[in-house]
Amino acid sequence: MLKKTAINKISELAAVLMEKGTLLAPVKEAAGFNFREISDAGQVNLHFHNTIISPKSAFFPQMEDFVRYQTGKSILEAAPVELNLKPVFLFGVRPCDVKSFEIMDIHFSGTGAVDPYWKKRREAATIFGHAFDLNEAADPAEFYHTLGIGAADPQGSDIFMVTKDNDLLFKSITPKGKKLLEELTMLTEASAGDRKYFEDYIARGHDYKTRFASVEPKAIATEFESIFDNREFWKNVSNACLSCGVCTFVCPTCYCFDICDETLFNKGTRRRVWDACMFTDFTLEASGHNPRTNVYQRLRQKICHKYSFSIRKYGVISCVGCGRCTRYCPVNIDIFSIVEQAVKAKWYKRL
Ligand code: SF4
Ligand code: SF4
Repeated sequence: MLKKTAINKISELAAVLMEKGTLLAPVKEAAGFNFREISDAGQVNLHFHNTIISPKSAFFPQMEDFVRYQTGKSILEAAPVELNLKPVFLFGVRPCDVKSFEIMDIHFSGTGAVDPYWKKRREAATIFGHAFDLNEAADPAEFYHTLGIGAADPQGSDIFMVTKDNDLLFKSITPKGKKLLEELTMLTEASAGDRKYFEDYIARGHDYKTRFASVEPKAIATEFESIFDNREFWKNVSNACLSCGVCTFVCPTCYCFDICDETLFNKGTRRRVWDACMFTDFTLEASGHNPRTNVYQRLRQKICHKYSFSIRKYGVISCVGCGRCTRYCPVNIDIFSIVEQAVKAKWYKRL
């Protein structure tokens, strides 16, 4: 099913989705675009390339409370925080970010230990994927093409959107998406010309070039294993790193978290907060020992996790080439060029 609306009528669609549930969509903010819960239908803004923070927070918020309790009282009186989810519409997600949800599903629900918070949010969501603008040059930090992700890949979305001149085309990809499209009566039926345009656009997306390197998962995992102990290589690539953690917080496939208790007067909350392997105290043990005191060890962990350990354990590279880590790194550390250098790392002297 293919439907359409004029882009300047997008607020009408937003208003209907807000009546049906919670709408998360790109909003323009002082520093750039981010996915936010929409409170005014006019806030939705599709004139964006990609958001600063990835949309992972729709399923894995930066901070969430699990349990509230009173200090000094029995643990039996502690109250779990209920999710009480309404249907969620995640609107305008780029294909590389849609792919990241599939990778995160492995960690949060595919290994036998299911995270109920992630799973329930995923089930409650309808994803509106949105093709990149193929008439614009790719952002210089992006390399999703290297990882086999097309700029207009609809896989993983429930509904996929393509811009055609002043219109937005909507195609249902899953039964959930089809049911919703049938209900959205303010959208009009697309023409045969629109259908051809949509199919041609998806095909063109496969040829759209971002930075590219020939990366075969098992081979790159082996390369990183072979240079794991090469301190010269890792010190060289991490020399400027500030351990700020920005690259992990903006990344759609980083999922480390901490669980902590916060108490104020006699009220306590147990909550989950994002954590980052780039932080100095991430591996600090209760004894005071820290196995990763050096910055090169932390950057090595981050990159080997994505390009080696994840391949060995789950068969996938845990990166979608969105380029955020490079774009927002304050000292321009570029994961793509580290992967490229890893392939050539045999040139480095082993210590
Ligand atoms: S964003 Fe850059 S400086 Fe900050 S931790 Fe990541 S690699 Fe290091
Ligand atoms: S490691 Fe960088 S390029 Fe890869 S998914 Fe994360 S932010 Fe995007």
